Amino acid sequence: MVVVYYMRFKGRIVVITGGTRGIGRAITEGFLREGATPVVLYASAENEAKKLKEKGAYIIKCDVGNREEVRKAKEIVDKEFGKVDIIVNNAGIMVLMPFEEFDEQKYERMLRINLNGTIYVTYEFLPLLKRVKDGVIVNIASNAGIGTAAEGTTFYAISKAGIIILTRRLAFELGKYGIRVNAVAPGWIETDMTLGGKDQEEAERLREIFRNKTVLRTTGKPEDIANVVLFLASEEARYITGQVIVADGGRIDNLTHSV
Ligand code: NAD
Repeated sequence: MVVVYYMRFKGRIVVITGGTRGIGRAITEGFLREGATPVVLYASAENEAKKLKEKGAYIIKCDVGNREEVRKAKEIVDKEFGKVDIIVNNAGIMVLMPFEEFDEQKYERMLRINLNGTIYVTYEFLPLLKRVKDGVIVNIASNAGIGTAAEGTTFYAISKAGIIILTRRLAFELGKYGIRVNAVAPGWIETDMTLGGKDQEEAERLREIFRNKTVLRTTGKPEDIANVVLFLASEEARYITGQVIVADGGRIDNLTHSV
């Protein structure tokens, strides 16, 4: 298959949270290929961050769940670039925890990174986004946030449902500045989040389970999500805002229930 890349984002400054691993790294590399300058806010994978820097990304170590660190990152970006064209709120963690095993500390940490982090980054960088005429925000939610069930994901789903309603409300509030706000809700994607620390046998067992949950009988790759993010960030999506695009291979449990 021949893939042609266009320079859709030449001259664009793109803030990507958690952009050094998994889905975030695929998003960063996608923007690099298409001429943008990614500004990666990262909390881990120092070596990956250095490699991305060599390829042209601007990297800032920043815990998105810490508002002061996010504010400092904003100041650095303001001094260095003076504007932001696109924000991709991708950073997130998944703590599996059945409701009956509720642990307040774990819950609060997950909510702080996934939901508060999205709010902090959006709020702090908004003045820079308002300096361009066609700013874009893309949030990474999850199909868990629209109710797709998996064991132990209730609290994670709550954090992602929060991101979905935030996406819709921000589209409503920021439309007057020409800013579009959309979300992508991935299904089961092969990254450290789903396969980290698993041996080959366990990884294959999990792949098989999730293949069988989709009508396309396949699991997702980080690029499957990055491609949707790049589309939503591009001029081709200029008439789309307030939407959640589900990219999950067609989950059978969602496609077969009655509406
Ligand atoms: P991953 O664990 O490979 O990557 C998560 C990224 O977030 C890492 O770069 C990590 O450093 C970063 N991060 C975590 N805490 C952070 C913090 N406090 N500050 C800054 N960065 C932080 O996982 P992934 O699968 O690539 O996940 C990316 C996003 O996609 C997450 O929001 C996740 O919830 C979402 N998602 C993933 C899947 C999946 O199946 N993998 C499905 C649905 C949604």
